[in-house]
Amino acid sequence: MVLTGICMCGAVAWTYSGDLTRKLVCHCADCQRATSSPLTAFLGMKPEQLSWTGEIVHYESSPGTFRGFCPTCGTRLYFRSDRWPTEVHVHAATMSNPGEYRPDAQVFMPSKAGWLDRLPSIPAHDGFQQEPMVHPPAATV
Ligand SMILES: [Zn+2]
Ligand SMILES: [Zn+2]
Repeated sequence: MVLTGICMCGAVAWTYSGDLTRKLVCHCADCQRATSSPLTAFLGMKPEQLSWTGEIVHYESSPGTFRGFCPTCGTRLYFRSDRWPTEVHVHAATMSNPGEYRPDAQVFMPSKAGWLDRLPSIPAHDGFQQEPMVHPPAATV
């Protein structure tokens, strides 16, 4: 299997050849904070089969744990930790074809954002809402 990916501005790209070690959705509080999102989706890869082009900056979010991102556009690229030296977790949303992603596990369920369960029951639009809601319904405050 060959997969490719890119950051938002295109300065950083990755190519992976080989079998994936994980396809997981993470609900942990660190990922929520680091990605400014309620959840993040990862592809587990073997470091020796993953190649990068472009400059990457990383943040050491805890001792021996690194979160890489593009210094130009800020796109989150990977998570890696000295605790799991045989794996790099690449953010699945950076895939060239992110629609092909098929997670097979989700982890850290106790910190899952509670409102995710409400998504199927709230209004959904194909694009951005045309007008902001001026008077929120009192019941949702
Ligand atoms: Zn970029
Ligand atoms: Zn996480």
